[in-house]
Amino acid sequence: MRVILHGTRGAYPTSSIENQKYGGNTSCIEIIDGDQRLIVDAGTGILGIDFDQHYTSDRIDILLTHLHLDHIQGLGFCKPLFEPDKEVHLWGPGGSTNSLQSRLNRFLSPPLFPVVLRDIPCNLQIHELPNTTFSLGRFNITSEFISHPGPTVGFRIQNGSKTLTYIPDHEPVLGRAHLYKEDEWVSGLGLAMRTNLLIHDSQYSKKEYGDKVGWGHSSLEMAAEYSARAHADHLILFHHNPAHSDDFRTQMFDTFMEKHNYDFPIELAVQGQEIEL
Ligand SMILES: [Zn+2]
Ligand SMILES: [Zn+2]
Repeated sequence: MRVILHGTRGAYPTSSIENQKYGGNTSCIEIIDGDQRLIVDAGTGILGIDFDQHYTSDRIDILLTHLHLDHIQGLGFCKPLFEPDKEVHLWGPGGSTNSLQSRLNRFLSPPLFPVVLRDIPCNLQIHELPNTTFSLGRFNITSEFISHPGPTVGFRIQNGSKTLTYIPDHEPVLGRAHLYKEDEWVSGLGLAMRTNLLIHDSQYSKKEYGDKVGWGHSSLEMAAEYSARAHADHLILFHHNPAHSDDFRTQMFDTFMEKHNYDFPIELAVQGQEIEL
């Protein structure tokens, strides 16, 4: 399978010239096997997808990890939603008291958005995701609730012999410098276990995390430790802090790599990057 990173930024999009190297669009990746495609998260990165060229099928599947704005901000401007002949399937977690549909309705309705969900012209199908495993064509998908404010899932997506794990917003342990020794105390570890590619939250520096405990994100150090515990083959550091310039981010990463010696590749996500698995 092939993975394209359309949006790598967390929290809010940034057009600053200082953020162009790693990209300014918020979370969205696309996973491709031949003529089959999956979109995961609908941040502003989704607006970089050329639907006319690449989506010849009438069916489009979009998986959502959660409904924080940086993961759905592009949804209302996503072209297929406004095409009556398209069948758009949205998959994501419901809330404990509200359905996924009513939660999406809060964003896709005035005063936040001019068109209400029920008036969107495509054939929109909404599916709530519990902890479950299901198949979409040649992709076998596991969704599991992970530690982040509000209902949030991570995804493990298997295609043939390869697996990708996507956990863009995640605080694996609360307020600790290191993971618990017991695997069962670490959020979402099963999703990442022995995965071929782990795309994981790395919003903060270690110092920043100290002031942001409980905000739901990881330091770069925590992302690497988590990846090592899961025996992942390859880690891509995702959900860049929009307040970090490219230079700051690069320096933070280089300093980290000089001090640590992990036996798997670690890199910073770059908007537009393609990875072949
Ligand atoms: Zn986010
Ligand atoms: Zn979030």
